[in-house]
Amino acid sequence: MAGSAEPILPGGTLGILGGGQLGAMFAAAAKRMGYRVEAISDVADCPAAIHCDRLHVGPFTDTDLLARVADDCDAVTFEFENIPAAAGRALAGRVPVRPDPEVLFTTQDRAREKTFLSRHGFACAPYRIVRSHDDLRRATAEIGLPAVLKTAAFGYDGKGQRKLLTAGDVDAAWEDLGQGPEGPRELVLEGFIDFDCEISVVAARGLDGAVAVFPPSRNAHARHILDVSSVPAGLPQAVLDDAIGITGRILEALGVVGVACVEFFVTTDGRVLVNEIAPRTHNSGHLTIEACETSQFEQQVRAVCGLPLGSPRLRAPAAMANLLGDCWFAPDGTPRDPDWAAALAVPGVWLHLYGKREARPGRKMGHLTALAATADEAIEKVLRARRLACRG
Ligand code: AMP
Repeated sequence: MAGSAEPILPGGTLGILGGGQLGAMFAAAAKRMGYRVEAISDVADCPAAIHCDRLHVGPFTDTDLLARVADDCDAVTFEFENIPAAAGRALAGRVPVRPDPEVLFTTQDRAREKTFLSRHGFACAPYRIVRSHDDLRRATAEIGLPAVLKTAAFGYDGKGQRKLLTAGDVDAAWEDLGQGPEGPRELVLEGFIDFDCEISVVAARGLDGAVAVFPPSRNAHARHILDVSSVPAGLPQAVLDDAIGITGRILEALGVVGVACVEFFVTTDGRVLVNEIAPRTHNSGHLTIEACETSQFEQQVRAVCGLPLGSPRLRAPAAMANLLGDCWFAPDGTPRDPDWAAALAVPGVWLHLYGKREARPGRKMGHLTALAATADEAIEKVLRARRLACRG
């Protein structure tokens, strides 16, 4: 089914697995272009709810629900990695799923993802797959310290990760991460990369194999969560070209039809190492909404529908700052509303709120984007707007 070549034209129905902000922004782009959108989410009160025509509430393991979505939709995509591969495969037998569920299967697990990268010769941090305490001791001896231990499945925003600095950390990290409720968990031990900066590249690949790559963004994290992304990334063109070339080749090797993001470490000697692949739109690509000729969400619609990809050209330097739930609390923990009027008084700043009712520290509630003459000016502006919103 996934290879059917007829484009899905406006008026068609697109399904999205997951109801978070990435699904909501996909739905908003698709609706603007004249599509119907149906989302599947395990909670009714999700960001996609107000943007789609129909929300199916239930677990991704509900085969009746998946059958209803397949009947209603002309194609299905996803916005979230931790979808059981079985759900994607069940849908793929009845309706085009783009990207193919096998792309999700490869990238949702760090061990499979790393194996894919090394098999295709894409440079990444030295790593070992670990399935026992003994494996971990051996892997640590081979890779050396410092190193980073990560759970193979269900990790995001630094969850399920420990940095190992000393031999004493090794046993403690095994106790902490290696022991799941159903026995030993699969882990990946990575050498610690002393990077100069982190960048990511969002790209799309169409049904005809055409690839369109957005300009790489430079990403700063705080508490393991993306904090600020900015474009241009301010790196030598040769480094950017390496990252752009690798991203295109990864999308081809995976056979992605849709949007994917590749995150990289840029080492102090100018090498780019793949950190991870997300086979969907990405937080670091939110600035494409205002900064590029086509947003990452419109690009996802175009790719999934088998339409020509849009131009990813940058219209102006830009920066995006995430708004976490912390902004809804005073330093003493008292809840309070952010000062949106103050933030929006900064010229050239856009506010995106995801409609999440409950603010919690660390929860992504929205973001701000600023355009300016340079990336540094855009960063200054977006951070000023955020300080004003969050009162400091
Ligand atoms: P990840 O969930 O793999 O993207 O890791 C979250 C963050 O932890 C990354 O964005 C890096 O800042 C840091 N990190 C992860 N792996 C490594 C590594 N091998 N070396 C250095 N820093 C890392």
